Amino acid sequence: MPRTLLIDGAEKLGLALSERQAAQLIGLLDELDDWNRRMNLTAIRERSQQVTKHLLDSLSIQAFLRGRRIADVGTGAGFPGLPLALVNPGSHFTLIDATAKKLTFVQHAARFLSLDNVEVVHARAEAYRPLERFDCVLSRAVGPVRNFVKWCGHLCTGGGRLLAMKGRYPGQEIEKLPSGWKVAAVQRLEVPGLDEERHLVEICRSHDKI
Ligand code: SAM
Repeated sequence: MPRTLLIDGAEKLGLALSERQAAQLIGLLDELDDWNRRMNLTAIRERSQQVTKHLLDSLSIQAFLRGRRIADVGTGAGFPGLPLALVNPGSHFTLIDATAKKLTFVQHAARFLSLDNVEVVHARAEAYRPLERFDCVLSRAVGPVRNFVKWCGHLCTGGGRLLAMKGRYPGQEIEKLPSGWKVAAVQRLEVPGLDEERHLVEICRSHDKI
C-alpha cells in the first residue's frame, strides 16, 4: 500500500510523518498523475515507484539540509523541493526552473498542499539574482556537478552549501570543480525500497572549514 510504503520508508530516513503529511504527499502524487495526462511531467507512473523515486528519494537528503533558506534548482515537477518543503514548514523553499510549463504544476501543487513556505521562480539559475542568497542550494538530475557549481555558486551565502543529488558515485565529475569551490563530502544515500545507488555531493567554498 503506497501510504504504508511512504510512512515506513520515511521512518527509515528518520522522519516521523504525521497522518496529514502522509496524506498530502500521496495527494501530490494524485495531482501529478492528473496533470501528467495533459502534460509530460514524469515518466514514472507506477504508484509504488513514484513513492520511492519521487517522495522517498527527495526526503533522503533531509538530514543534510542546512539553514532556513533553501533553493531547488531545476526542480522540474517539484522534486526534491515540494516534499522537503512539506516536511520543513519552518524553512523557506525557492523552486527554480528554466521551463515555465512544469512550474505551472509546481505552483498549483504548492497551493493544493497549502505550502506558504514555497516560492516558484521561472529563470535559468545562472541568470537569477535573488534579493537574498540561500543557505543551501539543491539539485537533482540537472547535469554535471561542475555545471551546477558554475551556474549556482552565486546563489549561496558565504558559508552556504551546494548539494547535488546523484546516482552512482560521481567520480570524474567531482575531480575538477570551478575555482573557489571544493567537495566537502560525498554521502552514500539509502533510499528505502530503491535498489539503485544514490549519492549526495556536498560542495562548499574552498576556504570553508569542512
Ligand atoms: N529535479 C527534477 C527531478 O529530479 O525530477 C527535474 C529534473 S529534469 C531532468 C531537469 C530540469 O532542470 C528541467 O526541468 C530543466 O528545465 C531544468 N534546468 C536545466 N538547466 C537549468 C538551468 N540552468 N536553470 C534552471 N533550470 C534548469
